[in-house]
Amino acid sequence: MVGGGGNFAVFSYNWLGGNVGGGEFDWRGTDMIGEQQRRVEVECRVRKELERVGLYRLPVNPIQVANRLGISVEYAKFPDGSTTGMIAAKGGGGRIFAAKLDLPYRLRFTIAHEIGHYFLHLMEGNVIKDGEVRDRLIDMFLEREPSAGLVSEELMREIEANWFATELLMPMEFVREEWARNPNIPSLARMFGVTEEAIGYRVADLNLWDPANGG
Ligand SMILES: [Zn+2]
Repeated sequence: MVGGGGNFAVFSYNWLGGNVGGGEFDWRGTDMIGEQQRRVEVECRVRKELERVGLYRLPVNPIQVANRLGISVEYAKFPDGSTTGMIAAKGGGGRIFAAKLDLPYRLRFTIAHEIGHYFLHLMEGNVIKDGEVRDRLIDMFLEREPSAGLVSEELMREIEANWFATELLMPMEFVREEWARNPNIPSLARMFGVTEEAIGYRVADLNLWDPANGG
């Protein structure tokens, strides 16, 4: 599951308990430093917003987070059948529409991802612009081609919203603390409300996995 060297486990639909296979790709040739820096910025933003509304603690409930941030969450049935989530901003307020999916993990993730678009892509300076971002399942889990260099702006937005959602649902500080206390994937998955695969990737990504200790 964990790639070594220049490899990185691709974020995939599978991560959420779906059944589309993931894989690994090679980062060489991408603007890795710029991306890492951007990821740190995104993660800091998550923490800042969670602290601002007094919710930087476990368990993270993305609906509660959205509501405290002044964003309503509504279930919707999208006529096109392929849209899974949407964030609309108007007059500084936000409304998330999420397709009520069968898997609660995916619903939690969709809401966290839309909050990410709100702060990362609908905000200019400190002001939320009127606008909307609509996500199809296929957009949310776009994967890079192994040979791809710099990614398109659209793909980068989805990657950023996924970083935001990952940090929101599994804040790295709490993952580190809980892993140190009890390095057990199934119990951490329950604690964070994510799939075992998701927390497994997170633990690996944070370099917490120590094969010498059997994980
Ligand atoms: Zn998106």
